[in-house]
Amino acid sequence: MELTEQMTPFEAVNYFFQRAASNQELADSAIAMLSGTFRELRVQVPYRCDDGHMEIAYGYRVQHNAARGPYKGGIRYHPDADIDEVRALASLMTWKTALVDVPFGGAKGGVQVDATQLSEREKEQVTRRYADQISHIIGPTRDIPAPDMGTNAQTMSWIMDQYGRKVGHTTQIVTGKPVPLGGSFGREEATGRGVVVTMEEAVRELGLGEPEDLTIAIQGFGNVGSWAGHIAAERGYRIVATSDVNGGIYAADGFKVDDLTAHVHESGSVVDFPGSEPISNEDLLELDVDVLIPAALGEVITHENCEAIRAKLIVEAANHPVTPVADYALEDRGVLIVPDILANAGGVTVSYFEWVQNNQEIRWELDDVNRRLELKLQRAYRECRDFQQSHASEDMSFREAAFSLSVERVVEAATLRGYL
Ligand code: NAD
Repeated sequence: MELTEQMTPFEAVNYFFQRAASNQELADSAIAMLSGTFRELRVQVPYRCDDGHMEIAYGYRVQHNAARGPYKGGIRYHPDADIDEVRALASLMTWKTALVDVPFGGAKGGVQVDATQLSEREKEQVTRRYADQISHIIGPTRDIPAPDMGTNAQTMSWIMDQYGRKVGHTTQIVTGKPVPLGGSFGREEATGRGVVVTMEEAVRELGLGEPEDLTIAIQGFGNVGSWAGHIAAERGYRIVATSDVNGGIYAADGFKVDDLTAHVHESGSVVDFPGSEPISNEDLLELDVDVLIPAALGEVITHENCEAIRAKLIVEAANHPVTPVADYALEDRGVLIVPDILANAGGVTVSYFEWVQNNQEIRWELDDVNRRLELKLQRAYRECRDFQQSHASEDMSFREAAFSLSVERVVEAATLRGYL
């Protein structure tokens, strides 16, 4: 597969899969299976708007691979959540769950709506209708959805309720639920916490210095970006810039993240936070900071801006924020990138913990959840590094090592089951 900037998101994910496949000399059947998807469902999602007229949205559920366990992956509400994007995200889930060694496969869902323009009543209608339309292919041992961009714990509550109307009360059908409905302590912040845990592994490895001496810019102050900011600030790092869809803010001395969160709750945006200067989303990426955390959309670092990136470390909180061309260019310049399948795997890890707790009808304490999460991600980070070092002759990047290790695990499971 040729490396170009014109690759679609699914082609970009498959580029790294193909690299791993050729390093491991995988059979053609394995390449065909894992560069495609197992099942793709496209559904119409009609909903009545508050002004009385009907709209028809399109939704997808893509199941990529389930050799290692039930399909698992979030549901995204975004106008760009088309079939190619959802395939890419489903495939990333297969590699992510294998990398952190949780017993799931990979899937993803998407509904092409702008969640910011929907009222709560409209969102509930979209969610219940979409849940009905995909209900025949999901299930607590088949495919377990979770939140992603544009969806949250409330969305998961509606899905659980709608699914339960058909089959009876089933907490394990979704993860990322509110705690009173069987959600896990620590799930809401888990992806952001995982971003910080993997960042700290990289900071130590690179010898970047003490937290107080390090600056961080975070693109996107949604669930993942805001929690990463909170937890990093708690550990002493200086968050000097962040943004949302409306624009960005910068403060050389760093923000008080709690005050910023209060400002966002009041005003709906990070923009105009007292004591900050405005900055564009594009300029934020090019700031002279130690660590850059893209935590919004995919493909924000490309061949066009990668030369201007000044951070020494990029931690991919968002899914595929760096295009493959930019990835290799940054790697050549010695920038360490903690890849999405490792950096943002904290969410699916605690989703797994939630599912385990639901299956047993028990609840773990917050400290217990956080301790298990840290251990799992620290181990995954170490295993990627060990894999890279033990294949030194193949000259693989950290991302290539992460993919290769995951591919090895998925192929092993598929072979044991007799698929390959
Ligand atoms: P979210 O909807 O809570 O937040 C998204 C943030 O990005 C918001 O601040 C939004 O304003 C901002 N944003 C949207 N469009 C933007 C644009 N054009 N320019 C700049 N900022 C923009 O979503 P989230 O759950 O925090 O997810 C963020 C990323 O993390 C996504 O790529 C998602 O796939 C990934 N991710 C999320 C989870 C999870 O558990 N939520 C897990 C793994 C990966």
